[in-house]
Amino acid sequence: MMKYRTIDALNVKDKTVFVRVDFNVSLDSKGQITDDSRIRAALPTIRQLHAMGANLVLASHLGRPEGREKKYSLLPVAHRLAELTEIEVIFPEDCIGIEVKKLISENRERKLILLENLRFHQEEEANDKNFSDQLASLADIYVTDAFGSLHRAHASTVGMVAKFKEKAMGRLVEKEISFLSKLLDEPQKPYVVVLGGAKVSDKIAVIENLLGLANTFIIGGGMAYTFLKAKGYDVGKSLVEEGKLGYAKKILEKAKIKGVDFVLPVDHLVAEKFSEDAGFKIKKNGESWGTGMGLDIGPETLEIFSSYIKNAKTVFWNGPMGVFEFPSFQKGTNFMAKCLAESNAMTVVGGGDSLSAVNQSGYADKITYLSTGGGASLNFLEGVELPGLKALS
Ligand code: AMP
Repeated sequence: MMKYRTIDALNVKDKTVFVRVDFNVSLDSKGQITDDSRIRAALPTIRQLHAMGANLVLASHLGRPEGREKKYSLLPVAHRLAELTEIEVIFPEDCIGIEVKKLISENRERKLILLENLRFHQEEEANDKNFSDQLASLADIYVTDAFGSLHRAHASTVGMVAKFKEKAMGRLVEKEISFLSKLLDEPQKPYVVVLGGAKVSDKIAVIENLLGLANTFIIGGGMAYTFLKAKGYDVGKSLVEEGKLGYAKKILEKAKIKGVDFVLPVDHLVAEKFSEDAGFKIKKNGESWGTGMGLDIGPETLEIFSSYIKNAKTVFWNGPMGVFEFPSFQKGTNFMAKCLAESNAMTVVGGGDSLSAVNQSGYADKITYLSTGGGASLNFLEGVELPGLKALS
């Protein structure tokens, strides 16, 4: 399974090691870090490499800046990193250039060097060759621990990697692959896949790949309405991907032929507007919804969904069951977190919104594994080798 080298295989003593980490933390309006779990997740790799005698250069993106936008600076991360590791952190103003090189060559005390946001250069996402070469010229060895970015072919995840003979995955990536592989290689049955969130289109490839493997798909969130409409129900003004109705019909037919349960919500909290203070009525499938829109799953649905989770031996969950950002519509998502927490199954939650929902609900420590990568975990379960992993082999 582990066809990629781990950091144990590296000889890093007195070498400069470039570590691509995922420090894409959430910041509040004052620039304070609201959740530092992504920094904590990379600590085992940082600590081990440092203890092995490496000179560490850490690099990450943060948000989606348009050029050099101060609010996307990694400076708050540099401070938190120093607190967590108790090692001094050097924070250059850029991620490439002569100044950065000078700081690296003069760093005899092996302080941690955290480069400024990679995305301050648009060449990062463009996987530009020259930019990749400049990044690669900073170090002798490449390590990636940025699981949440491995599904993207950017300069720091793919472009620069080809330049290194010595390269490996960090501890976090190793752990992520190990848990996510259990969802693809002979998972214990019954195997339940819970999908929610806004869009069907993001989850098509996962559904296709897992259709022959999982026993049950539970569909909630906005994506359920495309399936319900495809079955002929009135869903009012709920989120529907009109272009995916044909696909939804085909999936429902395929699931039936394969004997896979494709479980959709039967009742819903239906509001007249998409807003935090919207009131709601409980509506069932088959009723007329007028101009209403489904913003969360209803009480009968909760019971049905939970009965499947209770019997499961393996559960994967990605995507909220409703508009969980609005307190009135977060019951379904919190309930799902509770179901997973109380289940005896191996439970894996795939990144992004479902991860924040689990953290918010207070059940995080009862989940077998919380993946740090939303898109990356979904792409992994599509059965395609992630570009950032392929680059390592
Ligand atoms: P995704 O990025 O596809 O996982 O989608 C997450 C987003 O889906 C969240 O911002 C939710 O507010 C949104 N969402 C979940 N359920 C619904 C719904 N019933 N209607 C509209 N948006 C929803």
